[in-house]
Amino acid sequence: MNPYRLLPKVDKLIDEVSEHPSLANQEIPRLLITQQARQTVEGLRRAIEEKEEAPPEFKTIVADLAEELSLLAASRIRPVLNGTGVLIHTNLGRSPLAAEIADSVRTIGSQYNNLEIDLVGGARGKRGRYAEACLAALIDAPAATITNNCAAALILMLRHLANGENNEVIISRGELVEIGGGFRVPEIMEASGAKLVEVGATNKTSLEDYERAITPRTGMLLKVHRSNFTIEGFTDEPSTEELVALGKEHNIPVVEDLGSGAMVATDEVADIPHEPTATEVLKRGVDLVCVSGDKLFGGPQAGIIAGRADLVAGIKKEPFFRALRCDKMILTAMQETAITYLQGLEDESVRAGLPLLRMLATDVESDLRPRGEAILRAVDNSRLNLRECTARCGGGTMPKAEFPSLAIALGGNGAELEALAASFRHHPTQPLVGKIHDGHFLIDLCTIFPEQDESVTVILKDLL
Ligand SMILES: *Cc1c(COP(=O)(O)O)cnc(C)c1O
Repeated sequence: MNPYRLLPKVDKLIDEVSEHPSLANQEIPRLLITQQARQTVEGLRRAIEEKEEAPPEFKTIVADLAEELSLLAASRIRPVLNGTGVLIHTNLGRSPLAAEIADSVRTIGSQYNNLEIDLVGGARGKRGRYAEACLAALIDAPAATITNNCAAALILMLRHLANGENNEVIISRGELVEIGGGFRVPEIMEASGAKLVEVGATNKTSLEDYERAITPRTGMLLKVHRSNFTIEGFTDEPSTEELVALGKEHNIPVVEDLGSGAMVATDEVADIPHEPTATEVLKRGVDLVCVSGDKLFGGPQAGIIAGRADLVAGIKKEPFFRALRCDKMILTAMQETAITYLQGLEDESVRAGLPLLRMLATDVESDLRPRGEAILRAVDNSRLNLRECTARCGGGTMPKAEFPSLAIALGGNGAELEALAASFRHHPTQPLVGKIHDGHFLIDLCTIFPEQDESVTVILKDLL
C-alpha cells in the first residue's frame, strides 16, 4: 500500500487535537496548534521519503501531538510557588519584585511616559536619568548606568577599555569562572574582542603575576568576584587595593565584576557571611564595578555599571550600548527599587517591602512556625508535619550563605517523593516547586510569601 495515503489530513488532525481531553482548559491559540500539526505531518512525510517508514495510526498521531502541545503549553510563563528555599532561583525568575514596584511597571508599560523627554525644557531627555542618579547615590559612586544584564555590563566595559591596540585584559586563573547556564567569563571576554591574559594558578595568584603580564597592549586589569563558589586551603591573591595601586602605577583601569550585587550589609540582615557591596569595591579604588539587577539587589534582570564618571559616560557612547540598553519597564523597576533602598536608609521598614530583603531577614520561630502550624491546621492531614531545613541565597550568590528555615514536609520513599514533587509541579492552576531532602518532600516556607499560604493550603488539600 502507498504509505503517503496513510498521512493524516492536516485539518482533520487539527480538529481532533483541539478536542483532545489533555488540552482542555489550556487555551492554546488555534494557529499554534495548526503550525505544530503541519510540522507533524511534514515530519511524517519526510520519514516516508527518507526511511520509507509508514506513519503510525491516526489516533497515535493525535495522542502524540496532544502530548507535545501539552508540554509546550506548560512552558507558558506563569506564577509558580517557590518552595525550594532558594531565594534567588535562576530557574524561577531570580528575584521577585515588590508588588508596588510591579504595579509601577504596569502603569508605565501601559501608558506613554517621559522615557526620553525633558518635561521641563521640552527637548529630548536622557533615558533612565533618574534611575541612574538614584543608583549612583545608593552606591556612592560618581556615576552609574543600567544595561540589559551584568553580562552585558561586562561586555560593554571590556569593549570600552580593552580594544584595538590595547585589548589585553589580565585576569587571575582563579577567576575564570562559569556563572551558570553556560555563561563563562573567558568566553564573554573573547566575544567582546578582548584578549585574555591569564595569570597565576587556580588557587594562587600574586601581584607579581599581574605585574609581569603588563605590556603596552594591556587595556584592563579585571577582577571577577567568586560569587558562586569558594576556594579554601592553600590560597592567595593580591588585595583589591594592591591591584588598584598596580593599575595606577601603569595607568591601567581596574575593573571588578561583582555579580551578586548586595546593596546592604548582608551580615546585618541575616546570620550569613558578608557579601561585598559595590560601594565597598569602589572605596577600594577600582575604576568600575558591575553588578546584577536581579540577584541580591532584588530588582529586574539588568546590569549596573558604577564608578568613574568619564568611563561611565564613555561606555554610554559605545555603539554597542544601544543594543544592550533596557526598556521603559525595566528602567522603571530599577528606578523604583533604587528609590526603595534610598528611602530604606531612613526608614528600615520601607526596605522590608523588597521581598528579597524580607526573606533574608526571616526568623523561623516568629515568622515561619506560626504560618506552618496554621497551614497544617487548615489542611488537617496526618501525613503532613513541619521540619526544620536550610534555605539558601542561590542564583550564583554566596555559596556559603545558608540559614535555618522551616518546611511543610511529607515523608515517603524515593519514587513516591519524585511522583509527589511532579504532581505539585504540574498542578494545573498553581504550580509549586518544592525540594526533596532526607526522605521528605519539603515546601520551604521561607520562599513562599505569607499571602500565598492560602494557595499552598488549597494545593495540599487538592493533592493529598
Ligand atoms: C551572576 C553573575 C554574572 C552574570 O549576571 P547576569 O545579570 O545574569 O548577566 C556575572 N558575573 C558574576 C560574578 C556573577 O555572579
